[in-house]
Amino acid sequence: MPANYIGRFAPSPTGPLHAGSLVAALASWLDARAHGGRWLVRIEDVDVPRCVPGADRTILQQLADCGLHPDAPPLYQSQRAALYQQALDTLVAGGLAYPCACSRRDIEAELQRLGRAKPRHGELVYPGTCRPEQGGLHGQAARAWRLRVLAGTIAWSDRRLGPQTQDVEREVGDFVLRRADGYFAYQLAVVVDDGAQGISHIVRGADLADNTARQILLQHALGLPTPRYLHTPLVLGANGEKLSKQNGALALDTRDPLAALNAAAGVLGLQVSAATLADWLAAATAQWAAAWGPTSKIRV
Ligand code: GLU
Repeated sequence: MPANYIGRFAPSPTGPLHAGSLVAALASWLDARAHGGRWLVRIEDVDVPRCVPGADRTILQQLADCGLHPDAPPLYQSQRAALYQQALDTLVAGGLAYPCACSRRDIEAELQRLGRAKPRHGELVYPGTCRPEQGGLHGQAARAWRLRVLAGTIAWSDRRLGPQTQDVEREVGDFVLRRADGYFAYQLAVVVDDGAQGISHIVRGADLADNTARQILLQHALGLPTPRYLHTPLVLGANGEKLSKQNGALALDTRDPLAALNAAAGVLGLQVSAATLADWLAAATAQWAAAWGPTSKIRV
């Protein structure tokens, strides 16, 4: 397994890295190094309206300042629409995806009618209005494309968080693969790219753990293998919420890379002291390998 290890860091260029995103970047880099694997960077600019011009270059520079160099040139999701369309076509041909004419307001009204108006994390569980067996588009124009979620509960195991389950059909419903504005959804792009790049291990922030069951369903639907997952602890802001660009997290200052790396390492439960960047990264890799490497005792 270690020889075939391919990991990745997949930032959305909606702004520069902040202290929280460095934790995920560092953990994914350390895990790849501890397994003797490769580490890739993928710029997730699929949600074009949210991207900030130049943020990709800033992120790559911040990573380089911290000594985190990808083993191949970064891949950009904005250049891969043809691949996502191909995957969507495959799902449609297999009866696993269908077009949907519903607006958010339509969905809210239908959920209300069904007495199921409870939003889940603010997201609405799609009531299946446009499912082919319910009459499809009802003569309206297609807006979005959705996955037909037929499986019941998805069970998976996170290397840090342990066993996880989610009833995707009940808790999420048929989710969007291609949005009404024409852009491909994160869920489809991430699964297609992880598959295409042969990603064997995904290490990312715990805020993304809730997406994993959906992504495993999509992997099954597309005949792709399921990577191993490790979701890292989140950095909380002063208000107790996850640090994010949306709630004004400061750009990571990488003029003193060791200070930035020490803070990230602390969140990961590592305590590293070294005078140079190279020594720091080597010491951190050894500590990570002892906790999470191929010969570590921790097995979830
Ligand atoms: N692009 C996503 C983000 O920045 C991360 C995707 C992933 O790691 O699966 O939140």
